[in-house]
Amino acid sequence: MTETSILGSTDPEVYKTLLESTKAIPWKIDWKTLKFAYVGPQIEALLGWTPESWASVDDWAARMHPEDRAWVVDFCVSQSQSGTDHEADYRALTKDGQYVWIRDVVHVARNAAGEVEALIGFMFDISERKKTEEQLLKMQKELEELSFKDGLTGVANRRMFDSIMEIEWANARRNGQPLSLVIFDIDFFKQYNDHYGHIQGDECLKRVASLLASSAARARDFFARLGGEEFVLVLPETDAQAAQVVANRCRNLIFKAQIPHAQSSLGDYLTVSMGVGTIIPGVQDQALSFVEQVDKRLYLAKQRGRNAIVDSQ
Ligand code: GH3
Ligand code: MG
Ligand code: MG
Repeated sequence: MTETSILGSTDPEVYKTLLESTKAIPWKIDWKTLKFAYVGPQIEALLGWTPESWASVDDWAARMHPEDRAWVVDFCVSQSQSGTDHEADYRALTKDGQYVWIRDVVHVARNAAGEVEALIGFMFDISERKKTEEQLLKMQKELEELSFKDGLTGVANRRMFDSIMEIEWANARRNGQPLSLVIFDIDFFKQYNDHYGHIQGDECLKRVASLLASSAARARDFFARLGGEEFVLVLPETDAQAAQVVANRCRNLIFKAQIPHAQSSLGDYLTVSMGVGTIIPGVQDQALSFVEQVDKRLYLAKQRGRNAIVDSQ
């Protein structure tokens, strides 16, 4: 079967019409001279440059995003030299200074002697696909961030606390440094909700979260909402004495904010109880038992009348 019989014609015009009616942009480069032998007229509609303005591969390279140029040119030249069909995605410059994502699919044509004679290819406009890809990536990133963030207060959540705790525990053990933890629980918060309503309860949680978060002074200090009206502060490289200072600072911050709490048995304002612990983790120690120990101290603070700090002393 001869090639012409596929279309039932030997007329080159038929091929030309066919090539120029596709959305993809056909082109041909003579390998010896590196000059364009042909570029489909569709290129002008897509990029604004006339087909005649595509003289050589230099024009092609020049009309490419600077960030893509080096690798795309290197890649296409090396693939062509080795006679391998290939494709590359890059941003092509339009005449009015914009960029359009292109997928260039290249076939290496050889002569009878097997030498590379020409490159024949199609450029596809993949800007829509790229836009979707970029949107998906952005959403993925947002989702990742959201999954580590507490939806109400915007601070880190329990999941993030677990990850950070694991990292800081290992750090402290490796470096023989003290690691401190402060766990907070708002006093009589059930009564707060009952009296002011859940919406104001939510506002109060946001306020408390932002106040407590502001008490973390060092770069690696980490604050999270554990759930409900409980929060936690992880203080790496912080000894018991320094942790006590931070806990006192927290209590003062809440006290100075004077958040009204009409149903508190302790006075007119909202208060917080705290459990504080410090450890230089040994090989036998478990992070979970340490957290539980600090949680027990928080419980003790509640038993001792609330608005209290219980640490190792
Ligand atoms: P205590 O002084 O012993 O800590 O008493 P409490 O009332 O603060 O403690 P309890 O654990 O009994 O109540 C916590 C309350 O926190 C119950 C729940 O309705 C409320 N709460 C938990 N999560 C949220 C939330 O996201 N928003 C609001 N508004 N309230 C919440
Ligand atoms: Mg609680
Ligand atoms: Mg409480």
